[in-house]
Amino acid sequence: MRIVLMGPPGAGKGTQAALLENKYNLIHLSTGEILRKEIKEDSSLGHQAKTFMDKGQLVPDTLLLEMMERRLKNPDCDGGYLLDGFPRTIPQAEGLAVSLDKLDLSLDYAISLFADELELVYRLVLRGKNSGRSDDTPDVIRDRQHIYWEHTAPVLDFYRSKGLLKEIDGIGSIDEVFTRIVDVVEK
Ligand code: AMP
Repeated sequence: MRIVLMGPPGAGKGTQAALLENKYNLIHLSTGEILRKEIKEDSSLGHQAKTFMDKGQLVPDTLLLEMMERRLKNPDCDGGYLLDGFPRTIPQAEGLAVSLDKLDLSLDYAISLFADELELVYRLVLRGKNSGRSDDTPDVIRDRQHIYWEHTAPVLDFYRSKGLLKEIDGIGSIDEVFTRIVDVVEK
């Protein structure tokens, strides 16, 4: 199974991604996590990404596209992958489509988790108290939400027009939301 998982910050993408990874034996590629690892390792990519990430801004498309094509080429992705937090812009979605075509790994579904914006900010402020993430503060959270609606929401239309989009209500218990996703992908 080859999946893109989308949704505004706080919609529960990471949690649902971990469950999907387990159930379907997928390689889970979270661009946020990969970038945070690069920063920890003090790599050149990490350095370039950090200035954007600390402000809650998007890291430039070319950096993301190169990083993800390199990663998707790894044969471990042949058995199925789950992209979490990528693509987040139209150029990323278009670039990804070209890479996947080239690698013969085209997508089965783009799953979008949706939820009310206020509920999401509330969830993220709570998470910020425990996560220690530098971008889980109220101001940066609001900026990340705006970026999502401005740059990432159009990606939903991109996948809708290709008949790949599945929209799922992200409000409810973790199990409830997971069941909704499973029902859709196993239909
Ligand atoms: P996340 O963990 O998915 O919330 O990502 C944390 C931060 O990493 C984002 O606020 C961006 O700065 C950066 N990032 C992650 N994925 C992408 C992407 N696909 N495009 C641009 N920036 C990204």
